[in-house]
Amino acid sequence: MNIQEYHAKALLAQYGVTVSKGVAVQSENEFDQALSQFPDDDIIVVKSQILAGGRGKGVFKNGFQGGVKLTRSKREAKRVAEKMLGNTLVTPQTGPAGRKVRTLYFTHAENIAHEYYLAILMDREAAKPVIIASSEGGVDIEEVATNSPEKITKVHVDPTRGLQPYQARQIAFGLGFSGSAFAGMLKSLEGLYQVFWDKDASLVEINPLVLTREGTVVALDAKIGFDDNALFRHPEIAALRDLNEEDEKEVEASKHNLSYISLDGNIACLVNGAGLAMSTMDIIKYFGGEPANFLDVGGGADTEQVTAAFKIILSDPKVKGILVNIFGGIMKCDTIARGIIAAARSVEITVPLVVRLEGTHVELGQELLARSGLSLVSADSLADAAEKIVNLVREDSS
Ligand code: ADP
Ligand code: MG
Repeated sequence: MNIQEYHAKALLAQYGVTVSKGVAVQSENEFDQALSQFPDDDIIVVKSQILAGGRGKGVFKNGFQGGVKLTRSKREAKRVAEKMLGNTLVTPQTGPAGRKVRTLYFTHAENIAHEYYLAILMDREAAKPVIIASSEGGVDIEEVATNSPEKITKVHVDPTRGLQPYQARQIAFGLGFSGSAFAGMLKSLEGLYQVFWDKDASLVEINPLVLTREGTVVALDAKIGFDDNALFRHPEIAALRDLNEEDEKEVEASKHNLSYISLDGNIACLVNGAGLAMSTMDIIKYFGGEPANFLDVGGGADTEQVTAAFKIILSDPKVKGILVNIFGGIMKCDTIARGIIAAARSVEITVPLVVRLEGTHVELGQELLARSGLSLVSADSLADAAEKIVNLVREDSS
């Protein structure tokens, strides 16, 4: 789960990381009150709050250029804000559909001397958090990594010991800090690592982290992602979830404890177990199809969950076929069968459905389906099932 920049900055501030003063607004009638909190001669940046990067270079569908704008006066800030709020911003990261801007953040403009890049994430191979820093901030870090990898410093942190002072110094030196700014950088690093660790973050990315002309180190942008599986430990973070920016179907799935991820293809998969879900998607692709989603109903799903899973799948207009692939272990095949039948009673299944059941209570499951009168195609192996659904979808669309 990702949170908006203004929430991320509030969290960073709690950890002693310096961020610019700012105020978030959700409607036009809050503009004046929000702007009155800045000194009259202040230079204000208006920032669109969406969960995608590249906002600075983004373009609104109404033609307005830039989702992050430096303004010269409060009047201009207000005019810019009117152009942004409620409109759809397209950036290199949003895809062509863009994202509707529902929140704006007014913030003090810093006097930037230099922009740095800083990120903390989990290095799965090393099984340790890694801090990635570069003196080339504000730009595409992928580009720096490709063209000048020597400008990137990586430091692994031993999770049992935490960030050591010598490691923080190594990063600050590596970025060329000295004097009082050096101490500011150490303090920022310490706070950033602590947020990452305490809140079970999967990513803390500050691009840019800046050195101001006054010699302070300030986080100008903040992207924080959290491990969904650890959110139950952080209700205060879970409360920051922005449902407007999440796939409706994913939100609905999480209410039913289903692991669901929308994909771009047209063959929906309903599977139990993440490994089986991955191989089901692979084999659909092998036969020339494209999965519409990843849906793992888990080991112990009940009829209600299976019904919910079906409804979520069927609410997706791009779905042209469904493949149910269940290996009955803890999850019994008859439970799945009952779920399919219950779902078919409440929502009409208008696309081809291929079902492959195997394992515990398989005969009962198949018998229930056969007696239900539902029009579906049974398959007896994963390959058989994948090939059948790919062909059915192809026939339908030709
Ligand atoms: P994004 O990465 O989505 O484009 P950023 O928050 O990084 O959005 O803003 C883009 C650029 O705008 C930054 O690299 C920085 O140069 C400038 N910027 C952002 N916030 C401020 C600020 N408070 N003061 C001065 N410049 C800013
Ligand atoms: Mg940025």
